[in-house]
Amino acid sequence: MAAKQIVILGAGIGGVVAAHALRKRLGSEHRVILIDRKRLYLFSPSLLWLMLGWREPRAIQRDLEPLRNKGIQYVNAAITGLDLGERKVETTAGGFPYDYLIVALGADYAMERVQGLEEAAHVFYTLEGAERLRDTLRGFTGGKVVVSIPSLPFKCPAAPYEAAFLIESYFRERGVRDRTHLRIVTPEPHPMPVAGPVLGGAIKAMLAQRGIAYSPEQKLKGVDPSRKALTLESDEEVPFDLLVAIPPHRPPQVVLEAGLAEPGGWIPVDKETLKTKQEGVYALGDVAGIKLVSGMMLPKAGVFAHHEAETVAANLAAEIKGEQPRARFDGRGYCFLELGDGKAGFASGKFFAEPKPVLNLRRPGRLWHVGKIWFEKYWLRRWF
Ligand SMILES: Cc1cc2nc3c(=O)[nH]c(=O)nc-3n(C[C@H](O)[C@H](O)[C@H](O)COP(=O)(O)OP(=O)(O)OC[C@H]3O[C@@H](n4cnc5c(N)ncnc54)[C@H](O)[C@@H]3O)c2cc1C
Repeated sequence: MAAKQIVILGAGIGGVVAAHALRKRLGSEHRVILIDRKRLYLFSPSLLWLMLGWREPRAIQRDLEPLRNKGIQYVNAAITGLDLGERKVETTAGGFPYDYLIVALGADYAMERVQGLEEAAHVFYTLEGAERLRDTLRGFTGGKVVVSIPSLPFKCPAAPYEAAFLIESYFRERGVRDRTHLRIVTPEPHPMPVAGPVLGGAIKAMLAQRGIAYSPEQKLKGVDPSRKALTLESDEEVPFDLLVAIPPHRPPQVVLEAGLAEPGGWIPVDKETLKTKQEGVYALGDVAGIKLVSGMMLPKAGVFAHHEAETVAANLAAEIKGEQPRARFDGRGYCFLELGDGKAGFASGKFFAEPKPVLNLRRPGRLWHVGKIWFEKYWLRRWF
């Protein structure tokens, strides 16, 4: 068995899991190289808690360097080019030839897509943005708060709703809720459309119970930072004192330049094996586009990146060892839904079920909030 070099692009959820799973299955003659421009891994789900001051940055980040002690060759560099013909990755730390390539580069943000958005909006999808929002929420004394979803898709379909629930309960605690109007403006027909109208209806009901206004099927046209107003495609104006926006997402530039992504979309992959059209190249996590039978796309979420990474690693290891690759990603996923007041819901689903995904929302309560805390601790300890 000839020694192989497997290069993994991106040390986020998918890349870190894939690297561990490959290392576990393959002998030390095979090299597992993990490349990321960041030195610190960030557990994104906890940004929602950091936004309220419940987490410090260092508690939800982990140094990537020690992965080298586990036989994973972590390289801190920006990936600048992919030569799929020559099977080589270009980075700021030089070139890396590969026998197998796993693209786990996630999604980039494109605030510039909506005029005025960058200037006017708070964004809790980045560490710096969540810290800035935390400081603003601390000093907020009342007014109009708008949570805006400018475009689809975005990571973690639940996150904007969780943000609204958490901000609402935080303002109640701080005694400014009665001076605050909260509204979500989204192009979606209902919350988490891929999960179906029943789950969406349940979330809508919970928004209504908390007095959070909900404006579905509203596309954002632009933002006027000086007048503090959103303009919708319907020409309605939505004034705000505080704007919290989900950044528009796009595939990383290097993926676009390599021609791996579909025009206007993501990297198409076989939904069960995550193989791309390029021999020996796999894509997983947020950067991959998986179309469901319903015509909708599989949501961008860490739980899928995780299970996809395990599938790819199991099959690659089998192939390298001359065995039959049998692992199949089955589209199962779950998510905790923060509701504020120390409570959360828990949704699980079979997204590859036909003719449409089968979803189940467990009764919200304190247990699921504790479950989410436990999951955070487990995740950060398990992989670092
Ligand atoms: C606020 C928030 C809450 C969330 N909550 C949940 C949740 O509760 N449950 C859930 O399942 N998911 C959640 N998610 C989504 C989850 O974080 C992502 O779906 C997941 O991280 C995707 O994993 P990935 O490996 O595809 O990409 P990522 O984890 O984003 O990793 C991509 C990596 O690629 C690196 N990279 C990109 N371009 C380059 C380059 N050119 N050179 C070098 N490195 C590069 C990046 O630095 C990054 O480390 C949440 C996301 C956010 C923002």
